[in-house]
Amino acid sequence: MLLRMSTLLLRTLREDPADAEVPSHRLLLRAGYIRRAAPGGYTWLPLGKLVLDRISELVRSEMAAIDGQEVHFPALLPAEPYRASGRWTEYGDDIFTFADRKGAGHLLAPTHEEMAALLVKDLFTSYRDFPVTLFQIQTKFRDEARPRAGLLRGREFLMKDAYSFDLDEAGLQAAYERQRAAYRRIFDRLGLDYTVVHAMSGAMGGSASEEFLAVTPVGEDTFVGCTSCDYAANTEAVTTRAPASGDPHAHPPVEVHDTPETPTIAGLVEMANTRRLGGRDDWTAADTLKNIVLTVRRPGVDEAELLVIGVPGDREVDLKRVAAALHPATVTVFDDWAEHPELVRGYLGPQILDKLNLRYLVDPRIAPGTAWLTGANEPGRHATGVANGRDFTPDGTIEAAEVRPGDPCPSCEAGALTIRRGIEVGHIFQLGRRFTDAFAVDVLGPEGKPVRPTMGCYGIGVSRAVAAVAEQHHDDRGLVWPAAIAPCDVHLVAAGKGPQLEAALDLGARLSAAGLRVLVDDRSGVSAGVKFTDAELIGVPRAVVVGRRLADGYVELRDRATGERAELPLDGLVERLV
Ligand code: ATP
Ligand code: MG
Ligand code: MG
Ligand code: MG
Repeated sequence: MLLRMSTLLLRTLREDPADAEVPSHRLLLRAGYIRRAAPGGYTWLPLGKLVLDRISELVRSEMAAIDGQEVHFPALLPAEPYRASGRWTEYGDDIFTFADRKGAGHLLAPTHEEMAALLVKDLFTSYRDFPVTLFQIQTKFRDEARPRAGLLRGREFLMKDAYSFDLDEAGLQAAYERQRAAYRRIFDRLGLDYTVVHAMSGAMGGSASEEFLAVTPVGEDTFVGCTSCDYAANTEAVTTRAPASGDPHAHPPVEVHDTPETPTIAGLVEMANTRRLGGRDDWTAADTLKNIVLTVRRPGVDEAELLVIGVPGDREVDLKRVAAALHPATVTVFDDWAEHPELVRGYLGPQILDKLNLRYLVDPRIAPGTAWLTGANEPGRHATGVANGRDFTPDGTIEAAEVRPGDPCPSCEAGALTIRRGIEVGHIFQLGRRFTDAFAVDVLGPEGKPVRPTMGCYGIGVSRAVAAVAEQHHDDRGLVWPAAIAPCDVHLVAAGKGPQLEAALDLGARLSAAGLRVLVDDRSGVSAGVKFTDAELIGVPRAVVVGRRLADGYVELRDRATGERAELPLDGLVERLV
C-alpha cells in the first residue's frame, strides 16, 4: 500500500479545534483521522479508517482463534424482540426508536442479545450443536445523553459483540474465561495500559461481569484497586455484604418505588443537552447540572419532590433560573442546603444523567421522609445517594457510591483502596438465561428432554479503542501509534524537489512492493519543516527523510516514539525496514 499525501484526503490543522476537550479528540481531528459529522457522529478519513480497520482485524483474528464465528445482524430492527425481552422500555431514551411507514415500531440496535438468541433458536435443535460462539463487528446506535470527547462516546459507534451459548454453567464459565483471555491478548496487542475490574451488569442483567478499563484521567469510569491484593472494581460495583439477617445490625428491608416524577429528570436531561442555563454563555446546562446537588424528598409514599440545591463554593450558578427551566411545579430552591440537615444529598453526575429514569430507594434507617436518587436501568442497583458514603440495595448489599482513597479493601481487608479513572474499552458478562428464557430457546438434550442454553455476551468498543490508544500514545507534538495498529508502517518525507522526490517515490514503491504500508509526503510547495511537523502529528512509527544527504546515498531514519535518528545508506534500506 502506498499513500501519496499530494492526493490524500487529509488536511492537518495547526490549531486545536475549539470543541475538542481531550487529547485524543484534539489530535485525531488535527492529524486528519476523523471529522465531526453529527452530534456524536464522526466521518472516518482515510488514515482513521486504516487504524479502525487494523483494530477490527486484530479483534477479528483473536475471536477466530477462540472459535468465534462471524455473523452480521441488521442494525435496523423491529421492536418485537426488544419488547419480548423487556429492553424496549428498559433502555428508555437510550435507544433510537421510530415507526416505519406502516406504523410498526423499530429501533436502531444498541446491542444484539435478542437477535443472537433468536438466531440460535432458529437454526439449532440439538445439544450436539453446542457450544457455539457468534460475533460481529458492527455499528451500534445509542442516544447517549451526553455524547462526549469525539470517538469516546458517540451516538453511533463500532462495537465487536460476541455471544456464547452453552448448555450448562461449566460451559458458560469456560466460554467466559476464553473470552477474557482473548480480551487480554487484544488489549495487550493494542498497547493499552488497562485494568480488569468487577463491574455492574447494567441493562444487560445477568450475574458476573468485568470491564476492561484503559487507565487515563480522561476516562469516565472511576475504579478502585487494592494496595495488597489484586482486587479491582468499578466504583459503581464496590460491594460489601451487609450483616446477615438475624444479626441485630442487619439491614432492614428497603422499599423501591418508581417515582411519579420521571418527566422531571427526563426534562432535566433534555435541558442539559439542548439549552444553555446558568446565566453564562460559556456554560452549557450540563456544566451547570454537574455542579448542582439534587435531592429527592419523599413527603408521602406516592409523591416525590425534586429539590435543586446550590453547591456552596465558587460557582455562581443562577439556581432559580435552572430550577424554573426544569419543572416549576416541583422544584424548590434552597440557597443553602446546609441549613436543611433533614435532606439526603445525591450528586447528579454524568453517570446518573446517562441512566435517565429516576427511581428512588427509601431506607427506613434514614430520617423519615427522605429518599435517594438511583438509576433505573437496574432498579435499586445504581444507588447514588450518599449517607456515610454508602448506598443500600434491596438485597441487602451495600454499595459505596463514594469510596475514598485509603478505605479498607473489601476483599482482603488488609490493603487500602486506591482510586483511578479509566475508559471502558471492553465488557464481558455471564448473562445466564435471561434472553433464552425470553424467547423460549430450547433444544433437545441427551436424554431426550429439552435443555435451555445459557448465554454470555462480550463487547469491545472498537471505535472507542482508537481514541483510547490515542489517549495513551501521544506527546505534545502529536500521535505516537503502536506499530500493530498504525495507519502506515513508514512515513517517507521528500525533503526537497527533484531527485529527493524521485528517490522518495521510488523507495515508497519498493517498500510497498515488499509488503509495507507506506505514506509518502510528496506534496509540492510545502516546506520540509511543515512536512516534519505533520509527520510527528500523524504519528507513524518510523519516518524516513530523503533530504540533502541523498547525494551521498544516505537517508535519515527517525523513530517517532524514542525520537532517535540514524543516517542510513539508501542501499539495503528496504531489506532493513521490512
Ligand atoms: P458506557 O458505560 O461507557 O456507557 P456501556 O457499559 O453502556 O458503556 P456496553 O453496553 O458494555 O457499554 O457496550 C460494550 C462496549 O461498547 C463498551 O465496553 C464500550 O467500549 C463500547 N461503547 C458503549 N457505548 C459507547 C459509545 N457511546 N461510544 C463508543 N463506544 C461505546
Ligand atoms: Mg452506556
Ligand atoms: Mg459501562
Ligand atoms: Mg458496559
